[in-house]
Amino acid sequence: MSGIRRFIKYLTALALFYSGLLSLYDFIRKKLGNRPDFVILMYHRVLDDVTYDRVYTQPGMSVTESTFDRQMTWLNKKFKVLPIEQVLSTTDNGESGKYGAAAITFDDGWRDNYTHALPILRKHRIPATVFLTADYIGTSRPFWFLTVKWLILDGNISAEDLAAIITDIDDRSKSATDAVRFLRNIRGTPETVADRIIEMLKTLEIESLEAIVKAMLDRSSLSLDRWERDKPMLTWDEAAEMSEQNIEIGSHGCSHRILTLLSESETSKELHDSRAAIESRLGKAVRGFSYPNGNYSEEIEQDVRKAGYTYAVATGGRNLPGNQVDRFALKRVAIHEGISTGPWGRFSTAMFAWHIIRHF
Ligand SMILES: [Zn+2]
Repeated sequence: MSGIRRFIKYLTALALFYSGLLSLYDFIRKKLGNRPDFVILMYHRVLDDVTYDRVYTQPGMSVTESTFDRQMTWLNKKFKVLPIEQVLSTTDNGESGKYGAAAITFDDGWRDNYTHALPILRKHRIPATVFLTADYIGTSRPFWFLTVKWLILDGNISAEDLAAIITDIDDRSKSATDAVRFLRNIRGTPETVADRIIEMLKTLEIESLEAIVKAMLDRSSLSLDRWERDKPMLTWDEAAEMSEQNIEIGSHGCSHRILTLLSESETSKELHDSRAAIESRLGKAVRGFSYPNGNYSEEIEQDVRKAGYTYAVATGGRNLPGNQVDRFALKRVAIHEGISTGPWGRFSTAMFAWHIIRHF
């Protein structure tokens, strides 16, 4: 976002927040039944303030520890922060905070949820849910999108190299031809090029995707050993410890593959196997599911229900008429560093409040 647009956005947030118009807007929506009684926030990573800029993440996936702390302080004052299932059964009885109830969730199973987020959650006595990608927990294997970003930014793999790799693997299919055309026309900073390449790769078949990532790794001089030092995902012990400390553990599938691209039997395997793995490791029932990449369909909602889950969360999502909710496609508001910082990068309560209230 350009500096001037960012500045205007900041001024708008300040004006709405400090004039009381934001509260009035929320009050009217609530009275008209235009929003649910609760909000669910979606986080991924909570990073060290100092090394924040040096971690390979995708846009919209992380907050710094200090921002997370300030966000939790405000939420605790204005909302009643509860575990998701309690939030789902809350009817507004005057006990909830000024804006109603809220629940905190984390996707993927990043190790920083244990090292950085947990101490802050405990300090504020805030419960949360962490959705684990079962195959990655306890391994040093990074997600493919993390690997791709690292290979592009540090391994000198250019869009042109990637086009050559894809042509070598598959020079016939329409998706490969489209991908090569996309890569030949891509422009931007290395960071944005990497992020756009990742979005394009998400649309490919898993077999081609795996072959492409392997070929990229072979072509670069980088070694996956790097991730042995920098284990990015939670271990099972850490997940178990979290589950003893007011953190509900849910499933985010086994492999993080997008369910709408899979066959019915593959989807069913993702749903059942991830649940079984987490339950056997933690000795607790798994009730919640989070759709990888947020993609689902009505059939998949039914599959999730049949697999024994009691609710599922989406990425973004829609409000139903009145204050009804779809328990198997719960709307979430995505949170990252930029949504609550002003033009100078400092935390702004007004920006955070505005982001939540207008996406509620
Ligand atoms: Zn995810």
